[in-house]
Amino acid sequence: MAVVLDGKQVAAELQDKVRRQLERMAPKGRLKLVVVLVGDHPASASYVRGKQRTAEKIGLAGEVRHLPASVTAEELLGVIDTLNADPDVDGILVQLPLPAHLDERTVIERIAPEKDVDGFHPLNVGRNFAGVPAVWPCTPAGIMALLEHYRLPVAGRHAVVVGRSNIVGKPMAQMLLQADATVTVCHSKTPDLGVHTRQADILVVAAGVPGLIGAEHVKPGAVVVDVGIHRVDGRLVGDVDFEAVAPVVQAITPVPGGVGPLTVAMLMVNTVRLGFRRRGWGGDE
Ligand code: NDP
Repeated sequence: MAVVLDGKQVAAELQDKVRRQLERMAPKGRLKLVVVLVGDHPASASYVRGKQRTAEKIGLAGEVRHLPASVTAEELLGVIDTLNADPDVDGILVQLPLPAHLDERTVIERIAPEKDVDGFHPLNVGRNFAGVPAVWPCTPAGIMALLEHYRLPVAGRHAVVVGRSNIVGKPMAQMLLQADATVTVCHSKTPDLGVHTRQADILVVAAGVPGLIGAEHVKPGAVVVDVGIHRVDGRLVGDVDFEAVAPVVQAITPVPGGVGPLTVAMLMVNTVRLGFRRRGWGGDE
């Protein structure tokens, strides 16, 4: 039976580390993360509440700017401009998805790159791809932290990433590549997924399809990271059929309690990193 990789525990440790960093800096001031929430999408509202709660718990000021679903692009961009210019704001995150009348790309590009805690701004994407230090998107960064915590080697391994979104799949592949893995990226047009996933020493699944990966898709002894999260019959499940895959592999993340908490923890790490850098508080390590 596989080792179950405890994302909750690793997230708690990451949060504790940033909490101590913030405590040391408390006499200088309090860093602030602002999450912009547009509309009343219930899942988004719940994610935003979780982020704000965690921010406050570790000693950041966590603010939510809740705008109505009817907000115009000009109004939303105006709010971002104000936050960009506010010297007390260290991190800005616009919760996605946005209502259909708002163009996500325009909105993301409006966030000042030095306050872009999600690492989605094209300048930060480019810096990351060029190997110039910037903050990485939270989900893949959290997964790298998890692999490191459990001392699961990446260099020289064959990593297979299922999914190529800008927020998970692509940056995940790039991070694994920079950590010296040999990387394969699969997507919805990949004809025979299993041919690739069965070669994976490290398999990261971010397809958004419940139960996509079964025992027949994995190599015995692989490390499997399940990014997917879905509510099916009132239960949270991932993209990986946990019951079928766990007996075959070396290590696996559960859903819930795997990647999700790490994503939130990395958001705090990114906020602190950017805040320290912007305020000239020195290194964040
Ligand atoms: P997207 O829908 O943006 O991307 C899904 C990707 O998977 C696409 O590249 C798509 O291919 C590919 N894909 C879809 N179906 C298949 C298939 N049958 N075989 C192979 N590839 C497939 O999703 P996200 O990347 O945003 O999220 C993925 C999942 O992770 C979702 O369940 C989401 O809820 C979850 N998530 C969880 C987070 C966490 O913190 N736990 C954070 C972020 C996301 P193509 O490009 O060809 O369309």
